[in-house]
Amino acid sequence: MTSEQRPSEVPGGEPWQWPERVWRDLVGRVRAGRDLTPASWPGGARVAVAISFDSDHETPALRDGHTTPGVLAAGEYGARVAVPRILRLLDEHGVPASFFVPAVSALLHPGEIADYAAAGHEVGVHGWIHERNTLLSRADERDLTLRSLDTLERLSGRRPVGIRTPSWDFSPDTLSVVRELGFLYDSSLMAADEPYELLEDGEPTGVVELPVEWIRDDAPYFAMVRYAGLRPYTPPREVLRVWQDEFDGALRDGGLFQLTLHPSISGHRSRIWLLAELLRHITASGPVWFATHEQIARHVRTEGGLG
Ligand code: ZN
Repeated sequence: MTSEQRPSEVPGGEPWQWPERVWRDLVGRVRAGRDLTPASWPGGARVAVAISFDSDHETPALRDGHTTPGVLAAGEYGARVAVPRILRLLDEHGVPASFFVPAVSALLHPGEIADYAAAGHEVGVHGWIHERNTLLSRADERDLTLRSLDTLERLSGRRPVGIRTPSWDFSPDTLSVVRELGFLYDSSLMAADEPYELLEDGEPTGVVELPVEWIRDDAPYFAMVRYAGLRPYTPPREVLRVWQDEFDGALRDGGLFQLTLHPSISGHRSRIWLLAELLRHITASGPVWFATHEQIARHVRTEGGLG
């Protein structure tokens, strides 16, 4: 059993004793289907660029029951300092972005959601309180996802069409919840570099996956665990090189460059520099389509003949 599975999800017997049907069914539950790399990107662009921010703020700490002011202040920084700084930078570069926001974070900072919407950015679902889906029943996962949709619709004026599971913790039930609630796309899985259609038990779903990767996430490079003594710190200039290389590869392939950042991590003075440099590098490379995740999902869905 892995930490991602509820005990009820794990078949009986030892894994090396499982019959072929068992491991095939487990692997086949959610799978990558058709590659949706389009023949062309809008405006003659050679590459699509999808910048996203997971505006978690206080919610991962609250989810874990860490409720002291000392811990919560780091999340508060994300809302008070980092988000305005990020919005100014995106505005300077004319770059639209997607903000995935836990509903509790949105309720704590409603003005922020209005600011995203007013600037033309996308607001997407990111759980209720950054819960771990794999610890929930399907009924609870569905309830929290639906309440999140309703909350973000009320605060942003528009019903979200995209979901990113908190911590990319995509449970065995997530895809069926995503389908039932009518999402256009998910952005939590990593079975490809380019967009693809999700399969459920081998059947096409029409749901677009915009794949993520820990390589293109700020948290593994910068986050630390205070009392465990874990300090996986990478200098921002080194991270810039990694992300430039990821972008250059996407450009060569005519594909998608997708990035996941967190305001409370990347909004600091020494790191917002990194995003500014990256945007300069991307803009200087030639015709690029900067788009929200929603715009990219709609484009690849149409080009891929999914409707
Ligand atoms: Zn998150």
